[in-house]
Amino acid sequence: MAMAGGGKSKNSRTAVTTQKFFCSCGGEIQVKQLAQNGKMKTVAECEKCKRIERRPSDFL
Ligand SMILES: [Zn+2]
Repeated sequence: MAMAGGGKSKNSRTAVTTQKFFCSCGGEIQVKQLAQNGKMKTVAECEKCKRIERRPSDFL
């Protein structure tokens, strides 16, 4: 007797993927918020070489 199809409902979890970015030097990118001219500015900084870009994807 074959159990075709099955009755199990798929348990699809919506996992929060905290995506990590890495610099070309191998350091991990940290996203920071800086106050600049009264505004909050988000920057991405490599914790190893201290390179700063506007977005983590700019390191790629
Ligand atoms: Zn780096």
